[in-house]
Amino acid sequence: MTDGERILGLGDLGTNGMGIPIGKLNLYTACAGVPPRMTLPVMIDVGTNNESLLRDPLYMGLKQSRVRGKDYDEFLEEFVQAVQEVFPRCCIQFEDFANVNAVPLLERYRNRVCCFNDDIQGTAGVAVAGVLAALKITGKPLTEQRFLFLGAGSAGTGIANLLSQVMHQAGLTLEEARARCHLFDIEGLVVESRNDLASFQRPFAHKGEQLRSFVEAIETLKPTGIIGVSAVAKAFTQEVIEAMARLNERPIVFPYSNPTSHAECTAEEAYKWSEGRAIFASGSPFPPVRIGEKTLVPGQGNNVYIFPAVGLAVYATEASRVTDGMFITAARAVAEQVTQADLDAGLIYPPLSGILEASVKVAVKVAAEIFKEGQARVPEPEDIELYIRSRMWKATYKQLL
Ligand code: NAD
Repeated sequence: MTDGERILGLGDLGTNGMGIPIGKLNLYTACAGVPPRMTLPVMIDVGTNNESLLRDPLYMGLKQSRVRGKDYDEFLEEFVQAVQEVFPRCCIQFEDFANVNAVPLLERYRNRVCCFNDDIQGTAGVAVAGVLAALKITGKPLTEQRFLFLGAGSAGTGIANLLSQVMHQAGLTLEEARARCHLFDIEGLVVESRNDLASFQRPFAHKGEQLRSFVEAIETLKPTGIIGVSAVAKAFTQEVIEAMARLNERPIVFPYSNPTSHAECTAEEAYKWSEGRAIFASGSPFPPVRIGEKTLVPGQGNNVYIFPAVGLAVYATEASRVTDGMFITAARAVAEQVTQADLDAGLIYPPLSGILEASVKVAVKVAAEIFKEGQARVPEPEDIELYIRSRMWKATYKQLL
């Protein structure tokens, strides 16, 4: 190991404070065995626009309004370049950047340095894993699915992007695949004629009317799956779920917004209003639900299935870039681990209780992808699994007596 191999959690002070980057790095270790001394939390403080914080004598951050525009970009550039000098083989994980910054930052750096954004790519990976496992239940091909997203921010566009790529791999052109993903935001359906869209939303702005009602959008577009990434609690109403259940034998319903109080619906609501037919996964955990004779176990589309394993593979192979191909590989590897017994109970993610072993399996596949893509900076070992395991940190303590 050299000092250069590190994973950094990079956060934005104004939103969630230092706890998030520290906590995320803990998960790399707890869920995938990334050595803790190889991780470093960093928080970028560019000021705050929160008036009460600015007046608070105990506020520890910079007491100035947020820097934006050219100064912000130059500051981030200086930071990223400095990281390359001090830790040339590190991976920067961007976290909690507002979507107006997150997407352009990722575009600027993804092909220049080793980095990724978990809010965008990790979320997309776990959602794709959920969709792939859900299709094992429906038995329908991915190329015939249509998705409607409630929310068109970092998470929504990130998922739509990766899903489109997976549909492209399954045989559609990228345009055909994107045409199967529709976004609906606070202003209604994202359509071509809107002039308030960001460039990252444009690929999913299709022809049609700017419908203002989500139910009407469902009736018009006839999605096979709805994905909630709006942070609007209870937005998947009874009418929404019933419409999905009328249009689909097994509707895919993913209220991914966190925390639980922001979930677009509960597991119980989704199952009850669809007569137990919904294939459900949420961002926050929900307890099992009894419907008639059956107990249904809601899956949790937690990014922890993806980013620690990707981090372990990147760290072990000293990858020079993190690509969408690696997230697609991770998503497939997560979905592969869902057993028939899990599916029978409605569960579309492997149980979180076995996350460490699940992560090893994912990391082995991602590492193989890294070697295949020519992004590794270590020689390819004969046995990738053995190699990955040899790089993991284990919490074993020496007997002192
Ligand atoms: P964001 O701020 O980038 O985007 C939010 C989007 O929701 C925007 O497009 C906004 O227009 C839309 N929206 C807001 N109010 C709306 C309304 N009333 N009707 C329709 N659309 C509305 O946020 P984000 O980073 O994309 O995160 C969104 C949510 O997804 C959060 O709750 C977050 O917790 C959740 N999320 C979950 C996971 C996970 O479970 N794995 C991962 C990432 C994000």
